[in-house]
Amino acid sequence: MTSYGYPDGALFYRRLDRRMPMAVAAEGSWLIDADGKRYLDAAGGAVVANLGHSLPEIAEAVAAEIRTLGYVNGTQLTCRSAEELAAELAPVLPGELRYSYFLASGSEAVEAAVKLARQVQLERGHPERWKVISRVPSYHGNTLTALSLSGREHYRRVFAPLLTDFPRIPAPDPYRFPDDPRTTGELVEEEILRQGPETVAAFLCEPIVGASAGAVVPPRVYYERAAEACRRHGVLLVADEVLTGIGRTGRWFASEHFDLAPDVLVMGKGLNAGAVPLSGLAATPEITETLARGSGSFNHAQTYSHHPATCAAGLAVVRHLKRHGLVERCASSETAFFAALEPLREHPWVGDVRGRGFLAGVELVADRETKEPWPRERRVAERLTERCFDNGLIVWPNVGHVDGERGDLVVLAPPLTATSEELVEIGRLLTRSLEEIS
Ligand code: PLP
Repeated sequence: MTSYGYPDGALFYRRLDRRMPMAVAAEGSWLIDADGKRYLDAAGGAVVANLGHSLPEIAEAVAAEIRTLGYVNGTQLTCRSAEELAAELAPVLPGELRYSYFLASGSEAVEAAVKLARQVQLERGHPERWKVISRVPSYHGNTLTALSLSGREHYRRVFAPLLTDFPRIPAPDPYRFPDDPRTTGELVEEEILRQGPETVAAFLCEPIVGASAGAVVPPRVYYERAAEACRRHGVLLVADEVLTGIGRTGRWFASEHFDLAPDVLVMGKGLNAGAVPLSGLAATPEITETLARGSGSFNHAQTYSHHPATCAAGLAVVRHLKRHGLVERCASSETAFFAALEPLREHPWVGDVRGRGFLAGVELVADRETKEPWPRERRVAERLTERCFDNGLIVWPNVGHVDGERGDLVVLAPPLTATSEELVEIGRLLTRSLEEIS
């Protein structure tokens, strides 16, 4: 140990204020540390381990691809795994989306989607259109433009001078503001008009708001209005489905719950099931045609885009989901999952339990009647998460969604392969941990 309590070794840890257990093995929904302690992973890692944690089928697919092709430059050559992954995705993408472009992380794919929207507007003859309207709370990633577009104040604060100023509107909040224009969708058109439609390139949203607001499901009318406003004013609709995509909410993409047909969709996480860094964006034929007839390429390339090995992993994941009907299984097990969380509602700190499929948010409040959040210094979400961890349950905390400062919630996103016994155990351990800290 160093004199300031930092562990020996050379790893720059994500947390410098504590010692983390070492994960050494995994079995399905469970992680096992070096002391043999078992953790039921109700957060699927970072809402990513959709197939559970031990993935021999994916390991074999990746190894085979690396043996065959280590690397190809996607600007000069294409490869079988990227072609086949795009072909597997095309029939399950919402609306008119068809063409997939693969990258590594969700943040990168969000930035690529924003650049694509800008380039398409330019090539359609609208050079003044560059603004992207996003929402608060929201999360689109930690690179600077993705963070600029995000509404998660505690992530932004330190880097405020480095961020770009994009227009951001309040996100839908059916729990606190059920009949408010923020929840019923009018704000999208209002903001487009306020900015001047001739300056707006895109509207960026998570169809079901993920970790930053805790699985918020807006009413259908929100997206009817938002899509209509975008269409009327020539604004591209970009759906960030990094967290909600690939079956997480009981549909291949959460857009389907609302019959939402985005112009561009961003995916990540579940696409690779946590095995390798693979993300992507999908675009409509109208978009690829604009570029094909215009400049001839999307002005964006990265070393690891269309990578044979990461695409082989994605292909194995998507084929596994299809072969085992796991998206349908998630939809049909949604009731059992939320039934397992039902006992939480009896606890006076629980204001709301919400979500779809295997994505749930549990919001913790100081007063159920007024929905008053806890003062930040009580660290309710963090304390609950820590107690769960001690009790062998991994959940994902988030803070600050109410006003940028206050707001406590935990997000649950078990693997789509979780058994009914594991779902019951998640509800039991979370309820017990909450009782212990209160
Ligand atoms: N978009 C959404 C909706 C996310 O939830 C995340 C990550 O949590 C990202 C983008 C960023 O993805 P990554 O962490 O892979 O960069």
